[in-house]
Amino acid sequence: MTTLEAIFIFALLFKTGTELLLEFLNRSQVRKYSDGLPQALEGVMDDETFAKSNKYTLAKSKFGSWEMLFDAAVLAVVILAGVLPALFQWWTGFAGESNLSSALFLIFVMVLFSVPGIPFEYYSQFKLEERFGFNRSTVKLWIMDKVKGSLVGFVIGFPLLWLLINLVGWLGDYWWIYGFGIMFVFQIVMMVLYPMVIMPLFNKLSPLEEGELRDRLMALSDRTGFKAQTIQVIDGSKRSSHSNAYFTGFGKFRRIVLYDTLIEQLGHEELEAVLAHEIGHYKKGHIPKMIASSAVMMFLGFFAVDYLASSEWFFEGFGFESANLGIAFLLFSMIGGLFTFWLSPIFNKLSRKHEYEADDFAKNAVGSSAPLSRALRGLSEKNLSNLTPHPAYSAFHYSHPTLIEREQAMAD
Ligand code: ZN
Repeated sequence: MTTLEAIFIFALLFKTGTELLLEFLNRSQVRKYSDGLPQALEGVMDDETFAKSNKYTLAKSKFGSWEMLFDAAVLAVVILAGVLPALFQWWTGFAGESNLSSALFLIFVMVLFSVPGIPFEYYSQFKLEERFGFNRSTVKLWIMDKVKGSLVGFVIGFPLLWLLINLVGWLGDYWWIYGFGIMFVFQIVMMVLYPMVIMPLFNKLSPLEEGELRDRLMALSDRTGFKAQTIQVIDGSKRSSHSNAYFTGFGKFRRIVLYDTLIEQLGHEELEAVLAHEIGHYKKGHIPKMIASSAVMMFLGFFAVDYLASSEWFFEGFGFESANLGIAFLLFSMIGGLFTFWLSPIFNKLSRKHEYEADDFAKNAVGSSAPLSRALRGLSEKNLSNLTPHPAYSAFHYSHPTLIEREQAMAD
């Protein structure tokens, strides 16, 4: 075993072990309340819904833990048994060693390694979600989504990969700074194009229909200076009864999207509060902040790929004969998560701070915290959200504060 393989095993065991421990802690926390709601949560949901949400949390956690173990085992085999070098040798044997061949190889490997996870995805959607009444997809729709998703991924991903791999030859040592620039611009462009071009391939987006609700939401949008061109409704109910609302884009391209399931589940006053929260994200400049922090990560990522791509030991350590930028991207994408996982509490902390700010904005915009609080309670109930996560678990996994944390913050 090489030193690099030993580091890999250690990082894999450490991350997977931590994740399993977090799941275990979270399940223990949920089981503490098997007799009913803790006092601090009384009135938030009825006992029956609370019990059901605990069951849902436990089921997801157990299933997620098996999936995590399975993924870790697959990754360990792929990296340690020399699967990648063998596949690469086989590939270059007939496809050559051109940049085009490298880019295609990367796509091939990504598709190949997504296959073992498919049964888990199927189980999650058609067994687990189904059991708790959330699934509304059909097997046919699910397969169509997979096929369409792969095609879209190929059409966008392949030229992008090919371009990145060619940069070294075209630009020399500083290719990675240009690579970062290209990816950064790509990300910004996708923020605009994704809802316009890609999302309609999967969902129907339509403007919120005329009427009292629309008038009310548009009035809020004007009052807060957001001045929405339109509010869009997405047919999320096609696949799941989970509900959501989100804000995307920037400047002229900003848009607010409500799930049709959200409109079914909440009253007008509550929907107004949810919209105010989304407008809060815009007014407080959260999108540019998120773009900036992801740009920093991406810059560091490109720097790391460039460094690894020019290090013989990196390729030798994983059983490759010679350095290859495409392979550096591949190994980085497969293994990078073992290290970036440890940053998730920082990014979640930032995200939760933004949620508090958006809540505060909403409270002021609608004149009271009551409608948002009712909306959040309604959403927790309909989505069977876990109200009592373990603090360590929420630090790693929660981009949003819990319902109670949000209500308390609004009361201050
Ligand atoms: Zn939010």
